[in-house]
Amino acid sequence: TEQEEIFTRRQPRSAELAAAATEVLAGGVTSNWQITQPQPVWLSHGKGGKVYDVDGNEYVDLHGGYGAALAGHAHPAVVRAVKAQVDNGTHFAQPTRNAIVVAQELAGRWGLPRWRFANSGTEATMDAVHLMRSYTGRDLIIKVEGGYHGHHDSVQVSVMPDEDDAGPKENPNSVPSSSGIPRAITSLTLIAQFNDLGSVARLLEAHPGQVAGMIVEPIMMNAGIIAPLPGYLAGLRELLHSRGALLTFDEVKTGLTVGPGGVTRQSGVTPDLVCLAKSLGGGVAIAAIGGTVPLMDHVASGGYEMVGTFNGNPLAMAAARAMLTEVATEETYSRIEGLRIRAAAGISAAIREYALNGWVMTAGAKGCVVFGPQAIRDYREFLTVDDSLSHAHWLFQHNGGVFLPPWGKIEQWLISVQHDEADIDRLIANFRSFAAAIS
Ligand code: PLP
Repeated sequence: TEQEEIFTRRQPRSAELAAAATEVLAGGVTSNWQITQPQPVWLSHGKGGKVYDVDGNEYVDLHGGYGAALAGHAHPAVVRAVKAQVDNGTHFAQPTRNAIVVAQELAGRWGLPRWRFANSGTEATMDAVHLMRSYTGRDLIIKVEGGYHGHHDSVQVSVMPDEDDAGPKENPNSVPSSSGIPRAITSLTLIAQFNDLGSVARLLEAHPGQVAGMIVEPIMMNAGIIAPLPGYLAGLRELLHSRGALLTFDEVKTGLTVGPGGVTRQSGVTPDLVCLAKSLGGGVAIAAIGGTVPLMDHVASGGYEMVGTFNGNPLAMAAARAMLTEVATEETYSRIEGLRIRAAAGISAAIREYALNGWVMTAGAKGCVVFGPQAIRDYREFLTVDDSLSHAHWLFQHNGGVFLPPWGKIEQWLISVQHDEADIDRLIANFRSFAAAIS
């Protein structure tokens, strides 16, 4: 298409690097989800709210490294903290003072008293699943169809299943999301529908005394953005607890991006465990697991062996301290709220004007355009969203100098603390041109 031609014409050096990379990097990338169409984008640097590709093109960066760049790029407070730590050693495998400060900050924001650290969202959710099993002495867990929690075996189940594989909506199958994951393990993960307390109740009923707990994103992302219906989160906690099962909120994506204490603080529903990662490190790899006293005492006593060479490493702790005490402050969130409203209003106006079948969904710094019916409640309804329009929109934005996350209808933008109104206006202007082009 014309937009694909513009894309490749603007990026000859990316094409060269991509070709060279295929010799030594599997697929020419460092993660399967870095593959963009029509060709990979190779970046040279990022500064503030912008990134620059190796061909010298500038982009307003709303990709945000898959939601990890709430601080934007090279935020002065993060750079200061990280540089100071680099001069003093980056790894000892012993705790440092900053770990206490970070845990205190997280405890205050999330209302969970005890914390541990890890290095990725996958590690955090893996520890949470293990800990729920270890504490309860039960093997089964519940996850939501269409939910993504990282790439360990227990949660690589029914992430984006075909409707045929997924089976009936009321009684969905556990579908491995990749080969290499034994059914013996995926069969321990039971599948519920988001926003459907009945589906969880049925699973608890069918497996009495066997379900350790449930892992769920309290606002479902990785399927556009699906908000919890009123009472859903509180209902989950009550239902699970009534059967001796636990509740984990995966706030890897929602974490600091929807507000200072995530969906946990916004909803007033405190789970037994919470997982954080992505934006917490201001661009440095980190994850955190918060829990109640009984659960974390179980860890403390060695009841569950929660370990890791780089857990709580000084570099990550210095970055997270800067992030929590200097970047993700109350003032920051009111600024981002202004940008959220601006983006939603501008794009919604264009959707109305051009009578598109679409709408804007936002949650704090996160947002997306959904080309499909409004008020989507679960993964099955999300399947009706138009993927080709989502990709066409991505290409249009990219050629217009706005870098959105590439996986079409699944992903969301992230507004960083270093973006301003001009950046959001570019997003809106590109959307208007796109709307005009497809009308
Ligand atoms: N949980 C959620 C909700 C995520 O969106 C992701 C990553 O996208 C993960 C967990 C896994 O995090 P990581 O990619 O850092 O392993």
